[in-house]
Amino acid sequence: MSGFVEKPEPVEVPGLVHLHTGKVRDLYRDAEGRLVMVASDRMSAYDWVLPTEIPDKGRILTQLSLWWFDRLTDLVPHHVLSTELPPGAPADWAGRTLVCRSLEMLPVECVARGHLAGSGLREYEQTRTVCGLALPEGLTDGAELPSPIFTPATKAEVGEHDENVSYEEVARRVGAETAAELRQITLAVYDRARGIARDRGIVLADTKFEFGRAEDGELILADEVLTPDSSRFWPADQWQPGRPQPSFDKQYIRDWLTSPAAGWDRHGQLPPPPLPEDVVEQTRARYVEAYERLTLTRWT
Ligand code: ATP
Ligand code: MG
Repeated sequence: MSGFVEKPEPVEVPGLVHLHTGKVRDLYRDAEGRLVMVASDRMSAYDWVLPTEIPDKGRILTQLSLWWFDRLTDLVPHHVLSTELPPGAPADWAGRTLVCRSLEMLPVECVARGHLAGSGLREYEQTRTVCGLALPEGLTDGAELPSPIFTPATKAEVGEHDENVSYEEVARRVGAETAAELRQITLAVYDRARGIARDRGIVLADTKFEFGRAEDGELILADEVLTPDSSRFWPADQWQPGRPQPSFDKQYIRDWLTSPAAGWDRHGQLPPPPLPEDVVEQTRARYVEAYERLTLTRWT
């Protein structure tokens, strides 16, 4: 079992057609055919949408994505057209709504990794590879890789796991030329972002991008970018391979959900429990800290 405990109803806005309720974002189409992407305060972990929201999360993810998009435009065009609210939209959409180019999304989660963690670490421990790429012996939890690697995954439906796949599998799905383009752009954007994060005392251990094609065939960076939902951010001064790293990302909530305090079995049939107030506050604080450390501006 997984997915939503209770799927939220779309908001009715005249002139907008509801397209999709994702785990975190709600998608609409406006009268000009543009995509209206509204980030909610919903939190997902272990393939579930949690029953408790994290205040301000939607605005933090949106503002941080915009900050990054601005710093990447010379590498790849992005999908944002406007941050203006569609007429008639609820006031609380402000700051978490992006009007975007509607793209044909490529069915690949484009992951770049500079450090070993998460599913990369698990695969490495079994086979000394990540997505089929051979890595040196002796790497431990959190270790820096000799150079960043492209480790794609297939995008899963709500309730299914994303699955790491080989580069060859990506080439089969999207064609050799597109696969090469995805790998090249993913690594270029990661390299840029990693340098910016490093200058601010943050290790960008890994991150996930999604790309789409415009009508003219151009490859466009879409979705959210370089947020605590799509990335692992570690405080550089506490980085120490050989153990799980302190982080400004979703890891805190994953750790709480699997702790005895949560009393929840992630492999069982039941949805995750509501989050206690202090866990909500701690989670929010991590999202705010990621935003403030990266952008060098105060959140409120
Ligand atoms: P799912 O939609 O399967 O729940 P998710 O949890 O990652 O996946 P959200 O992040 O909540 O989804 O919603 C964002 C959705 O919008 C994703 O399905 C993403 O692929 C899609 N998307 C992002 N940017 C664009 C774009 N420019 N054009 C079309 N679709 C886009
Ligand atoms: Mg998403």
